[in-house]
Amino acid sequence: MAAVDLFVQRVVTDDLWMRDAACRGLTPLFFPTQAERPQARERREAAARAVCSSCTALGRCRDFARNHHEYGLWGGESEDERHAAGYRLIAPIGVRARGVV
Ligand code: SF4
Repeated sequence: MAAVDLFVQRVVTDDLWMRDAACRGLTPLFFPTQAERPQARERREAAARAVCSSCTALGRCRDFARNHHEYGLWGGESEDERHAAGYRLIAPIGVRARGVV
């Protein structure tokens, strides 16, 4: 496929809401470290949710993550919560072990 074909077929997403994100510069708070312990995950996600609770982009962020099968905490919602709400992860790493299914 030629590069020009990819250009014509590209999917344009509405991601202007990211400019309003309260989490800019706080990325490590929203994604687990390798082999993160459950207690550390709870503390990290609680801190991330506190940031989300004051974010004006919360609804748009949550919808984006649900529709794009994102990992990590988006819109105050963890990947486990998205998965349980019917927005299935493509590769549900750890979801079964945490009893979300
Ligand atoms: S809702 Fe949370 S994750 Fe989404 S942009 Fe706002 S602060 Fe970031």
